[in-house]
Amino acid sequence: MPDIDYRALLATAVAEARQGLAEGGIPIGAALYGGDGRLLGCGHNRRVQEDDPSIHGETDAFRKAGRQRSYRDTIMVTTLAPCWYCSGLVRQFNIGAVVVGESVTFAGGVDWLREAGVRVIDLADAECIGMMRDFIAARPALWNEDIGEE
Ligand SMILES: [Zn+2]
Repeated sequence: MPDIDYRALLATAVAEARQGLAEGGIPIGAALYGGDGRLLGCGHNRRVQEDDPSIHGETDAFRKAGRQRSYRDTIMVTTLAPCWYCSGLVRQFNIGAVVVGESVTFAGGVDWLREAGVRVIDLADAECIGMMRDFIAARPALWNEDIGEE
């Protein structure tokens, strides 16, 4: 995937995150792309909206992409470093690459994915960092609930 514009892919995930925020939810969005740059599915965290803690941006995008024969060439794009649950999803289905908007506010399973040979591209995107910092400052209890901190 040498000629893919990762920031263009990230824009889809950011739009999902902003939609989630507008819905009163947690601003984390994701998109699953094929190796050819085709969008397979996108989604956002809907813990609040659906009262469902299992709907993370990544799992939402993954489910919306439907069945894929192989995930090796797919790219999971997410506004924030994937949590353990979503990092497990990447490994379970052998998703080949993960594009991370940022890992400053939350590092998640980025190192674990890299150790397993998953290609991780961390864009350290200022918009993503700002969006999470604002959210964590505004809704700390909701954020801690989402990452399983008590
Ligand atoms: Zn997650």
